[in-house]
Amino acid sequence: MWSTIGQDRLLKQIDAGLGAGRLAHAYLLSGPPHVGKMTLALDLAAAVNCAVVSGKQAGSMFADLDEADGPCGNCDPCMRIRRGVFADLKIVEVGGDARVATRISIEQVREVESFLSVTPVEGSWKVVIFDGAETLAAGQSEPANALLKTLEEPPPQVLILLLTTNEDAILPTIRSRCRTLPLRPMPGDSLAEYLASKRGTDPGMARRLARLARGCPGWAINALDDPALLDAHREQLAQISAIASSPLDARFNYANSLAGSFSGDRESVRQALYLWERWWRDVLLIKEGLVEHIHNDEWREELTAHAGATTTADVVIFLESVRETLAALDANVNPRLALECMMLAVPAI
Ligand SMILES: [Zn+2]
Repeated sequence: MWSTIGQDRLLKQIDAGLGAGRLAHAYLLSGPPHVGKMTLALDLAAAVNCAVVSGKQAGSMFADLDEADGPCGNCDPCMRIRRGVFADLKIVEVGGDARVATRISIEQVREVESFLSVTPVEGSWKVVIFDGAETLAAGQSEPANALLKTLEEPPPQVLILLLTTNEDAILPTIRSRCRTLPLRPMPGDSLAEYLASKRGTDPGMARRLARLARGCPGWAINALDDPALLDAHREQLAQISAIASSPLDARFNYANSLAGSFSGDRESVRQALYLWERWWRDVLLIKEGLVEHIHNDEWREELTAHAGATTTADVVIFLESVRETLAALDANVNPRLALECMMLAVPAI
């Protein structure tokens, strides 16, 4: 059983590839945060090492199992991979090298090279997952070049999985050597249905979480496990709402505190920027008379006030500024400078 949810079309493709023994040696898993990239990557790592799947491919006693449906989830390799304690699986993350906490370093890529130079110990495939692959090219060429070499001449029985929230930031030379698996947010109704039926969530709460998660199941599941996330979310929106009517020094204080958390947790800063983008997109929708499409329905009053006090042009310019800031942060510019520039573009109320 695949653990991945909401990606049926992709899973069908992968099942077909697995069934025919035709997998690429490198995949680029792209999609928004919490859409399920890591879950799918671990699913793939399990699928190529699962005792039941390999049994089926070899036409053994397991062959009577009907259609392919991913890794079994119960054999030893499956369970160890899901717990992250499998000798032939390596997960490389941003911040894994404390000296360069905002990107994947050349040392980390070298470790991967030596990890791959040894044949599998526990399973039949070695799997490497690069989480935050867009940082490989951020202000440096060495890590990306080293990885490129591995992608050009991959050792046998090796699966390389690059995970990214920003496919455009992946070097074309790397992208062209990977098969892309684009993960899309799942429909809100399906996510609410999943939360209610599989996680026992109260239907009203399930609908609310599905809307806030924007079709990204990981966010909804995290919020279920940790209700403080919902409070933090509300607090962030209250700040975003207040900043439009705050003086410049308050805006800069906000930019500085966000920049301060960037080196330790760049993803939280990206998430904050997505909230900004969504807030002002809602303002634009209200201005265009499309209020039924807004995302932050619980903040309708504040959003309407913002819509009444701003021009469409100012909102559009600001939304562009948020996108530029996200790109600048990926390119490793000074986060404080980038965020201060963004604060200057917030439409004033
Ligand atoms: Zn298995």
